[in-house]
Amino acid sequence: MAVLDGIALPPRWRITSRLLAGWPIDEGHLLELWPHGRTPEGRIRWLYRLSYRNRTIFSATDISSPAGTVLSTCTLITSATTVLRFLTLCPGDTDAEYFDSSTRTQINWRDRFAEELSLYAMEDVCAYCGGDHASPGCGMW
Ligand SMILES: [Zn+2]
Repeated sequence: MAVLDGIALPPRWRITSRLLAGWPIDEGHLLELWPHGRTPEGRIRWLYRLSYRNRTIFSATDISSPAGTVLSTCTLITSATTVLRFLTLCPGDTDAEYFDSSTRTQINWRDRFAEELSLYAMEDVCAYCGGDHASPGCGMW
């Protein structure tokens, strides 16, 4: 099991070339994330990057964990799920303004993959094994 800064990464995850924790979601997609400082309220701010075949689709630091969250393997799993759920929102799921700042690359990606990838973002059903846990933590492979 890979360990980054003293934190054991979830099963299947690896340390990426950017020294972030990387969750290989499916054959083409990699979600990387790692804490990127704290918000003024003390919440963990996440730097994340979702890539498809090594091409960056999304990269930002606009998602934070709830106040009082401590970095752990479990926190990585819940945060990865949160990030992926956010990135796979489709028109109709949320306000239209949410999509105003989307790039052409992001729009094309969303049309092609968001629905399929949103299965991996569910909290209660693992897309790998069907178990009642979040996909990023699956140790069944
Ligand atoms: Zn599983």
